[in-house]
Amino acid sequence: MTTYRVKGMSGIACTILGPVKVYERWVLDDESDEGEWCDGDGSRVRVRMVGDDHIYEVDSDDCTPLEEHEWCDGCGQIGCGHGSARET
Ligand SMILES: [Zn+2]
Repeated sequence: MTTYRVKGMSGIACTILGPVKVYERWVLDDESDEGEWCDGDGSRVRVRMVGDDHIYEVDSDDCTPLEEHEWCDGCGQIGCGHGSARET
């Protein structure tokens, strides 16, 4: 599982679920809003905090991949020392 540090997410590792979907209208006039939900261009992504069910939408630019040892798989916190033994 790849996790990411997300700017503004208070030090909790997040996983990226996928691009934010955008509604694309088939007909570009004001009479109709027929269209469909498509994957966006990936500049906005949906993320979920480790250990949480909440899904947030953030800029992909704000996500930085984490090394496995940089975050805690017990509580999801970046830099937490507890959880699996990671003594160096
Ligand atoms: Zn922890």
